[in-house]
Amino acid sequence: MPSPIHAAMLLAVLAGLMLGSFLNVCILRLPVGESVSQPRSHCPACQRRIRTRDNVPVLSWLWLRGRCRDCKAAISVQYPLVEAATALLFAACVLHTGLQWQTLLDATLAYLALGLAVMDARTLLLPDEFTLGGLVLAFLLHGLQPGETHRLGQMAHAAGAAAWAALLLLCVRWLYQWLRKREGLGLGDVKLLAMIAAFLGLPLALLTLFLAIVGGAAWALVQLARGQSGAEHKMPLGSYLAGAAIVTLFVGEPILRWYLGWFR
Ligand SMILES: [Zn+2]
Repeated sequence: MPSPIHAAMLLAVLAGLMLGSFLNVCILRLPVGESVSQPRSHCPACQRRIRTRDNVPVLSWLWLRGRCRDCKAAISVQYPLVEAATALLFAACVLHTGLQWQTLLDATLAYLALGLAVMDARTLLLPDEFTLGGLVLAFLLHGLQPGETHRLGQMAHAAGAAAWAALLLLCVRWLYQWLRKREGLGLGDVKLLAMIAAFLGLPLALLTLFLAIVGGAAWALVQLARGQSGAEHKMPLGSYLAGAAIVTLFVGEPILRWYLGWFR
C-alpha cells in the first residue's frame, strides 16, 4: 500500500501535468486578449486542430519529437517544459507542507507565478486575469480555510498585506517617474506584488521584492560584462518577482529567521 503522502505526490504530478497544459494555453492567449476556452488547441503553423492523442502533456511532445504531426513545423520546447515545471512545483508543494490547506494556497501561488513569469518574459505583460484573479483567489482561500474561526480576520490580514505591498511599489513608481520623467515600473508589477503579499503575507512579500531586485541586478551586470548594454532593454521585472515568489514560497521562512537572528 502506498502511503498517503506518496499517493498525494502522484496526484499532484498528474494534476500538475494537466493544469500545466492549460497554463500553456493561458500563456499564449491571455496577453493578446484571446479566450482560453475557444477555439480548441491548434497548430500555430498549419492551423489544424491538435488531436487528443497528440495533446498528452510532455509525452506527446517527446513522441512527436517536437514537430506538428501534420505540417512538421517545430513545436516550442516551452510547452513540455511548462507542463513538467508545473508537475514538479505541485509535487514540491506537497513535499513542503504535506497535506494541508496551506498546500493548496502554495500550489495556487506557484501556478500563477510560473505562468506570469513566462508571460512577462515573452511579452512584458502581466494579465489582470492572473494578478487580480490571483488576488481574489488568495482572499477566498484564506477565508475558506477549514476549521478557521477568524475567517474575516484572515481575509482582512491578506487584504492589508496586499494593500501595503501595492502602496510600497506605487511609491517607488511615482518616485521613478518624478526623477526620470518616464515610466519605469508598470502597474502590472504593482498588482503582482500585491497578489504575492496576499498569499505569503507582507514580510515574505518584501523578501520576494528584495530577491527579485538582487536577481535582476545580477543579470543586468552579467549582460554589461558581456558588452550588451541593458539600458534600452526593458527588463521583465514581473518575471523576477514571480520567480522570487516561488523561491520565497519554499525557503523564505528560513531566510527571514536567519536574517532576523542577527538583530537578537
Ligand atoms: Zn502544423
